[in-house]
Amino acid sequence: MKQTTNGDWKTWLDVLNAKPVYSTHEHHREAFSQQQLDLDLLFQWSYVGWCGPAPAATYEARTAWLDKIRFNTYYQWLEKAIMRIYGIEELTAGNWDEVSHAIRQAHLADADWHLDLMKRHGGYAGFLEDCFWDTGSDVGYPDFITPVYRLDMWMMGYHPESLTNERTTIHDQFEDQPTFEQYMERFEHELRSRRPSIAGLKCASAYQRTIAFADASRAAAKAVFGKKPSETTEAERNCFGDYMLQVALRIAAELELPVQIHTGLAKLGGSNPLLLEPLVASHPNNQFVLFHGGFPWTYDTAALAHNYDNIVIDINWLPLISTTAAEDALHVYADVLRDSGKIAWGGDTWTGEEAVGASMAFRHILARVCADKVDSGAWRSKDAERFADKIMYENAYKLYQIRR
Ligand SMILES: [Zn+2]
Repeated sequence: MKQTTNGDWKTWLDVLNAKPVYSTHEHHREAFSQQQLDLDLLFQWSYVGWCGPAPAATYEARTAWLDKIRFNTYYQWLEKAIMRIYGIEELTAGNWDEVSHAIRQAHLADADWHLDLMKRHGGYAGFLEDCFWDTGSDVGYPDFITPVYRLDMWMMGYHPESLTNERTTIHDQFEDQPTFEQYMERFEHELRSRRPSIAGLKCASAYQRTIAFADASRAAAKAVFGKKPSETTEAERNCFGDYMLQVALRIAAELELPVQIHTGLAKLGGSNPLLLEPLVASHPNNQFVLFHGGFPWTYDTAALAHNYDNIVIDINWLPLISTTAAEDALHVYADVLRDSGKIAWGGDTWTGEEAVGASMAFRHILARVCADKVDSGAWRSKDAERFADKIMYENAYKLYQIRR
């Protein structure tokens, strides 16, 4: 290893660029979708698309749009990825069509380009897939991709008209309207029978309700089952979801499945990670993975990890949301974690291109944290490299029992 005791983050970036990453969270689309990509669609299927629609196809509109979006870190890392993958210096209104053509041709020429570019330009060694549109799927790449299983459609499934945030329902998997007993039996069977292939469970409730999950009885959940959404109160809907989560947690503990929970952003009023404290405290045998560092409540996540040993902090998405906040949060997490094995990272992206940007953003913040910790005298160089190996891939392999 190079001499890195001078706290030079760019030297650290060279060190980290030579290492692989394993992402704990992606929504990677199938090959046939990736093959439709051009520049405009790439923006639409990225977090840049969350900032508003891509511009009209004129020089003036593109120039104005680039001026508006340029400083946003979703845009910055996607542009850096496009620059790296497609060999350009900058994306401008002048080269827009040319870059778009290059993206389209690369995908059309090779149906596996979306994964090859992740390996080649992002250093990916594999990832966990949260395929919410076909949960449990590895989107056709079992050697590289390991699925996690979504709980949301079960937690929302008290009635066929009650949909998840992605407008899915579990009821399309039932031929007839099930009784509550049949529903619960099928749920348990589903989790157990999926276990050989899935590595974890995922709950994205924060987009629809508060994450202040409470105790709920089977009788109370049964009383909600079958009611039309318009006939239910918020308390009843939450009660049903709480009960389903409770059952999932019992099975997850038994099957040693970590439970990934979206915290922060989403519904801002109900997604503060501290709302999870009663659940975390009352389920010591479950491994709770708090996603996104709970942004903007990154210190609240740190407090939970400080007090409870059944917490894993996952900073997936965070370096894209705010590179500055991610760097700050990672400094704090390294300080407070009771076990340095309980921190991981993921890209949280739909396309190979954005996944490359996410890995670049992650390596950037990690290089800066390593450099700062060494420069301040807190860590030796070899300590920094050890921490990097853990958060980049080793912790994910252990936490999710990934076979290599
Ligand atoms: Zn996600």
